[in-house]
Amino acid sequence: MRVALVNPTWSFEGSIYFGCREPHLPLELGAAKVLLERAGHRVLLVDGHITDTPLTALADQVADFRPDMTVVTTAPTYLFWRCAQPELRIPRAFLDALAGRGGRTVAVGPHGSVTPKATAEKLGVDVVVRGECEEVIADLADADDPAHVPGVAVRRDGEILVTGAPRAAAFVDLPAIDWPADWVARHHHHHHRFEAAPVGPGAEVEASRGCPYTCSFCAKIDYRDKYRRRALEPLIAEIDGLIAQGARYLYFIDEIFLPQKALLEALAERPVEFGIQTRIDLWKPEMLDLLGRAGCVSIEAGVESLTVEGRAELDKNCRLTTDELAERLIHARRRVPFVQANLIKVAGDDPDLIADWRSRMHAAGVWANDPVPLYPYPSSPDYRKLFGLPDERAWERAHDHYLGLFDRMSDIQDDRPLPLEELEAPCRMA
Ligand code: SF4
Repeated sequence: MRVALVNPTWSFEGSIYFGCREPHLPLELGAAKVLLERAGHRVLLVDGHITDTPLTALADQVADFRPDMTVVTTAPTYLFWRCAQPELRIPRAFLDALAGRGGRTVAVGPHGSVTPKATAEKLGVDVVVRGECEEVIADLADADDPAHVPGVAVRRDGEILVTGAPRAAAFVDLPAIDWPADWVARHHHHHHRFEAAPVGPGAEVEASRGCPYTCSFCAKIDYRDKYRRRALEPLIAEIDGLIAQGARYLYFIDEIFLPQKALLEALAERPVEFGIQTRIDLWKPEMLDLLGRAGCVSIEAGVESLTVEGRAELDKNCRLTTDELAERLIHARRRVPFVQANLIKVAGDDPDLIADWRSRMHAAGVWANDPVPLYPYPSSPDYRKLFGLPDERAWERAHDHYLGLFDRMSDIQDDRPLPLEELEAPCRMA
């Protein structure tokens, strides 16, 4: 089968989108390409964002390939599935430009994972994949009838049939992804790097997937949930491939980059720097020392709340005290030039306590943000606490709730975000 995999040309005007707006490698599509080619399928992987290609030209490129199946992602890369933009207007605009020239159309991403029928309707696609998508895409390419593939939504006799719960990929044995050299060359962005101006290309990689914790705000119930660590050999082969293509900085998209001596020692031997997101309470001082020696230049660590009660309310399951967390962050900062402690707004926060702690951290060189409330993403426990199990209007409900809070958080974004109905007007004209 001929399969086109598409990361569309993203734009986020009027969106609440919290993720980074620069281009990043579409890891879920890169992984799908490896699995499809291993099964003997022909694959065209296109990325309008990194190649700065208008949607109409991107659609023409796909149509010229004459695919039997076209897969479009609804979030800019796996890195942002936990904080995806709620609106589907960009994938919809791509599919409108494709205008039926892509064979069977398939949507993958966080939206369809939780609201499969609404996503199928908004995008007008034939199939929606629920959960981690790479193995499901390979199954769809092999299947005579997509309704026989578990974990998808398919159009059948005027209805949308859901064939099962969201799927998780094995991931641990994912082979090395081989990225186009011109994409790496164009990848000027060094994600979440602040201590130095980027020199040479950046890239994103994935050493582990999922997380053993269940923080209340974290949107991972339907994908990237259980913790899995990727085999070191293909991971290092992928990293060496990126270095050979010129990459000088890697960002590990892992939800929680846990201490792994063998990986850190391998990175220490390579001419590349990197950034991670993690929980600082899981790093002993000696492993932070190794992390710094390995070339880590950016740590984003979720502290979330400065009180035991606040952390308990967020189900953080953190065993360290606030002072111990501060010590660990300061130790990390002595080894790594940029360390960020993330804070989230929790009811009952003491503003003076937060202001004092932030100044203490800033004096020690650790950046701590002004806490803000989070969007209740439909795949998070917070959504369920607020509204119960998500139905097909879950994104609309989460969005209305968030806009209702907006006046109290006008320092987060310059422009007031638009209602979802307005952002998705093109999706409602199907
Ligand atoms: S530790 Fe991080 S990735 Fe894990 S559940 Fe909490 S916020 Fe999510």
